[in-house]
Amino acid sequence: MTRLPFRARDGRRARGVLASVLLPVLVAGTACSSSGGDGTGAQSVGDPLFPRLGNGGYDVRHYALRLDYDVENRRLDGAATVTAKAGQDLRSFSLDLSGLTVRTVTVDGRKAEVRRERNKLIVRPAREVAKGATFRTAVAYDGRPRTLTDPDGSTEGWVPTDDGAFVVGEPAGAMTWFPVNNHPGDKAAYDVRITVPRGWTAISNGELRDERTRGGRTTFAWRSAEPMASYLATATIGKFEVDRSRTKSGLPLYVAVDPREAAKSRKPLATIPEVLEWETGVFGPYPFSSSGAVVDHEPKGVDYALEVQTKPSYPEAPEESTVVHEMAHEWFGNSVTPKTWRDMWLNEGFATYAEWLWQEQHGGDSAQKTFDELYATDEDEDLWAFPPGDPGKAENVSGDPVYDRAAMALHQLRGTVGDRAFFRILKEWPAEYRHRNADAADFFAFCEKLTGRELDQLFTAWIEKDGKPEKARS
Ligand SMILES: [Zn+2]
Repeated sequence: MTRLPFRARDGRRARGVLASVLLPVLVAGTACSSSGGDGTGAQSVGDPLFPRLGNGGYDVRHYALRLDYDVENRRLDGAATVTAKAGQDLRSFSLDLSGLTVRTVTVDGRKAEVRRERNKLIVRPAREVAKGATFRTAVAYDGRPRTLTDPDGSTEGWVPTDDGAFVVGEPAGAMTWFPVNNHPGDKAAYDVRITVPRGWTAISNGELRDERTRGGRTTFAWRSAEPMASYLATATIGKFEVDRSRTKSGLPLYVAVDPREAAKSRKPLATIPEVLEWETGVFGPYPFSSSGAVVDHEPKGVDYALEVQTKPSYPEAPEESTVVHEMAHEWFGNSVTPKTWRDMWLNEGFATYAEWLWQEQHGGDSAQKTFDELYATDEDEDLWAFPPGDPGKAENVSGDPVYDRAAMALHQLRGTVGDRAFFRILKEWPAEYRHRNADAADFFAFCEKLTGRELDQLFTAWIEKDGKPEKARS
């Protein structure tokens, strides 16, 4: 994610004052997390920053979503089939769903009992699901999707626009448009079919498998075979100019631009193949089967770009540095995904450092200069307000330390272990954890093993401890 205005760090700081617009359902209290013996799947995965998100007792393997959107009336008609494997005997289990009306729920074809509790859809199958079984939950639902306001004041989820919807879900917005185990710890494959009026384009992740028009409505069928965290899923709809091409190495690109942003977008989007090639050189093989971008026209309240899987999505024409940042997330965040939201710095630190490196290698400031300028800021600046590895509360999840101080920590690591080992880390970390989940401890252990060095002090000072750290001696 990158805040607008893309290069202004003040943008994030100013938005801190909106923290009072809390969304209690995301953060208040801890959800019931009992699970196991009584056959009830947990109604939370116990995320330290967003304790109400996600569910336990099962692992989703695949989401099949059939969506029909009435653009004019902003009504969504949805059918979701969630295929999951039971990690325990399940007399009941929950999915996250915010708003919308649930019509029917079946489990393995049999009608299930269902109730709603805040953002939980609690399902009691006709027959208990046995531990180890793969089971399919089908949910038919409809209504006007609601957007979410996050604890830090940002707008996310299904965001209506003047010609459709801009759909971004970090951290919780997926549940505004489908029933989901809404936590990055449970990644799955997706098939998303979206039907819209003829002339509109519906975009999801992965590759477009089919597009056909019948009776004045067009259905777009998208497939993401590689695992995806729910916060990276999209179903953006609008009037777009679509450009389909391939990079020199044959990677398919799908780039959709709102015509009102086309002129300003041309230059930054033209760099996508070059950015992909450069990042592949620095971070190793690109982790997905396609890439691209979506540029919409000022969706109300969305002042950030998001690294939507395979199609980074921008609320207006992006800066080149933002394209570099969001694309780097395909490695850091989308392929190597945090275990919990406390590890958001593993996404943003790397994506921010990618910008520094891009500048350094393309005639701009050196990473050292960027580091020095940031390090010169006063101790009472937001940059030093909390350690990146422990944001403490949900409203801090996109704060300056998670971005800039985490990038500074990586630069300190570079200075300590030297360029040779550091650039090996940048390549081998995403290779080792490709399409998996990781946390800070995994990263620290990985670096120590690769370098054969004790790096405890550096990581503790820069990632875990309060206050402005001393610079490491290299
Ligand atoms: Zn980011």
